[in-house]
Amino acid sequence: MEVQTCSDHTAGNQSHQSDTVRPMDRVLRDQWLEQADETLSSNGRRAGPARTAIVELFAREGQCLLSAHDILERLPTASPSSVYRTLEELYGLKLLSRFIDHDGVARYEIAHPRHHHHHFIDEATGSPTPFTDEGLEQAINDVARRLGVTLSGHDVVIRGHKVVNGTES
Ligand SMILES: [Zn+2]
Ligand SMILES: [Zn+2]
Repeated sequence: MEVQTCSDHTAGNQSHQSDTVRPMDRVLRDQWLEQADETLSSNGRRAGPARTAIVELFAREGQCLLSAHDILERLPTASPSSVYRTLEELYGLKLLSRFIDHDGVARYEIAHPRHHHHHFIDEATGSPTPFTDEGLEQAINDVARRLGVTLSGHDVVIRGHKVVNGTES
């Protein structure tokens, strides 16, 4: 299992440290921005200032799980309704992936084939850690073949507690 670099979010934590957020891989960022531009204009969507700011925010730091709350913290001049509407729009156009955890909060990250990963949620903190795993992808493809289905996507979330020196934290 390979743990990826990712913005260090603590879900539901108000004391957000934006300086711990790592910038997105540049190639991925440019590809996603181009894809977002094309998709939005070919669907005849008119750009508003809130949407532009949100698209740019995801391009900068959308590698992993931003909630509407996180976005409003970073874009304090945006209205909550325009943020919720834009998130729905980008999700509806498949530019963002959405995860709803058992706290009921929807979190979003950019949807892009190069960005495929899954999440471990630390139940003590609610904090997500992204990971990739070849064996897991293989197993999912094997299941699809066995069921005789073509997959359009899959979601995997694992939950638990971090083990520190052999004991749960
Ligand atoms: Zn993620
Ligand atoms: Zn996967």
